[in-house]
Amino acid sequence: MCGIFGFVSEDKLNVADIIIDGLKRLEYRGYDSSGLAAVINSKIYSRKQSGRVFELEKVISRSIKSSVAMGHTRWATHGKPTNKNAHPHCDCTGRIHLVHNGIIENHKELKSKLEKRGHIFKSDTDTEVMAHLIEEFSKKYSFEESVRLTLESVVGAYALVIISADAPDTMIVAKKSSPLLVGFAENSKFVASDVSAILPYARRVVYLHDGEFAVITPSDFRVATLDRKKVFRSQELIEQSPVDLAVHGFLSAKDEARKNNFPHFMLKEIYEEPEAVENAIRGRLIVKDGLAKLGGLESVEDKMKRLNRLIISACGTAYLAGLTGEYMLEEYGGMPVEVEYASELRYKKQLFDARTALLSISQSGETADTLEALKEAKRKGVLNLGLVNVVGSSIARETNAGVYNHAGPEVSVASTKAFVSQLAVLSLLTLFVGRQRGMSLVMGKRIASELSTLPEKMRRVLKEAPNIKKIARKYHKHGHFFYLGRKYNYPVALEGALKLKEVSYIHAEGYGAGEMKHGPIAMIDKNFPSMIIAPSDSVYEKVVSNIQEIKARNGKVIAIATEGNKEISKIADDVVYIPKMLEMLTPILSASPLHLFAYYVGVMRGYDVDKPRNLAKSVTVE
Ligand code: GLU
Repeated sequence: MCGIFGFVSEDKLNVADIIIDGLKRLEYRGYDSSGLAAVINSKIYSRKQSGRVFELEKVISRSIKSSVAMGHTRWATHGKPTNKNAHPHCDCTGRIHLVHNGIIENHKELKSKLEKRGHIFKSDTDTEVMAHLIEEFSKKYSFEESVRLTLESVVGAYALVIISADAPDTMIVAKKSSPLLVGFAENSKFVASDVSAILPYARRVVYLHDGEFAVITPSDFRVATLDRKKVFRSQELIEQSPVDLAVHGFLSAKDEARKNNFPHFMLKEIYEEPEAVENAIRGRLIVKDGLAKLGGLESVEDKMKRLNRLIISACGTAYLAGLTGEYMLEEYGGMPVEVEYASELRYKKQLFDARTALLSISQSGETADTLEALKEAKRKGVLNLGLVNVVGSSIARETNAGVYNHAGPEVSVASTKAFVSQLAVLSLLTLFVGRQRGMSLVMGKRIASELSTLPEKMRRVLKEAPNIKKIARKYHKHGHFFYLGRKYNYPVALEGALKLKEVSYIHAEGYGAGEMKHGPIAMIDKNFPSMIIAPSDSVYEKVVSNIQEIKARNGKVIAIATEGNKEISKIADDVVYIPKMLEMLTPILSASPLHLFAYYVGVMRGYDVDKPRNLAKSVTVE
């Protein structure tokens, strides 16, 4: 995945200012290296640099102006994140430059053919073959035809922007499976991987479809398919608020100030968890009737009554929210649920029938695996539902109906407030489908009223921060951790382990507490602590037995328990208390201490918790 940004203008624009601004808005898609290129006096100016976009800023000329320029922020798939592998890539002559988001699957065979014809490769990327292919075709054909023939020769996924010193007014862009859109301002056109980078300049946009390419000049814009059919597509007007603009984590100097007094966005966003839940449930609960009002699902309400199976498809933290949703929807909603990694679902034989629905969960709404699984399910004709945070994102546009989280911008790469807000929406969905099925009015009212008390209880949990920090200090040097929970808190244990891995690089494994004795307990000794989620719920006694099993083997235990539980402090080494809550909703309370713990440990180990190594906010390659 990566971020692409570029412009073609009737005027000469400042390249550094505009391209760097665009790339910063797209850094959530990748930040291991970046680069830019611009046509200047029929030559190409190009600079690239490993590291974050601010590193590129240091090595580019601030004064150059151009009418055709492009930039790229990379998340390496092929080749290390070094200067030479950063985009743009060029051909042997240095006259054709391109930036690419995606993976070229047949790059090896193409490269060896090109090398036999004398082409010299400078990088280890899959991308570079396309620059050489265009060069090769250019010996016989026009720039446009050479690009078209190149696109016909490659297998894989791409969003591509290409410029040539021999066609100094022209930019060619193409798309297959990776996103790309074009924005139209008065004298300029902008291309980008997503709308958040375009909106400061243009509100009228055209989304390219798979298998299409466009030729852009200051005075022209033409779209065609690879088999040369002209495409006419009208411009869409994007109405988006500044909040939506910031959803992907772009930070202007003013936004930086939004960190308020928090040292990191991750901490700020953990402190926003109560508000995120408040926003997710606002206007969506009718407590006196025990109902959830989900406007985004009204159009498919009748279809949902007839469903006999819901498949939840997601990745990473969103997958763990989905797993929690499975417990909720099955126990209280009466809906059979399966949760699948989107990256697996796409390649499985999908046996859907007319009464199956797919629910895709993604904070950004751009997760490539989730989007592709959704498209596959769409081909099979199932009802497609979405749970996304970013309004107007690809998943939001591809689904038949859905619910937005309204969690606001999440800047930190490790997801925190989006997770709890996904859980809140899944609780609302449980109420929604439950009341369509067997759920009584009394139970509906109970869930609705407990849901409405959540934000206040979450604020109480955050008051435990000093205690959690103290515990983090005690354990932050350990190299391994278990995270254990059962039933509703089993997926939360997985989430706690994932978060610790993401921001502190400590080896952490999440298990169902009952699974310990079937293997993992062999690892336990005094240096292998366990974080155990043990609220006073239907599986509490079982979890206490699991704690005893660990203590009997000298393992250290940190417990998350319900306020008023004195017994647990006698068994566990350290305890964090959360308020009493309906069992189904306890994950929304137990997640925050785990997020805080991961945050403090990451900071104590000296890492950049907002931008952990090897990760990107939104994973837009498969
Ligand atoms: N596959 C290309 C590379 O590794 C592009 C990756 C991206 O989308 O950032 O350079």
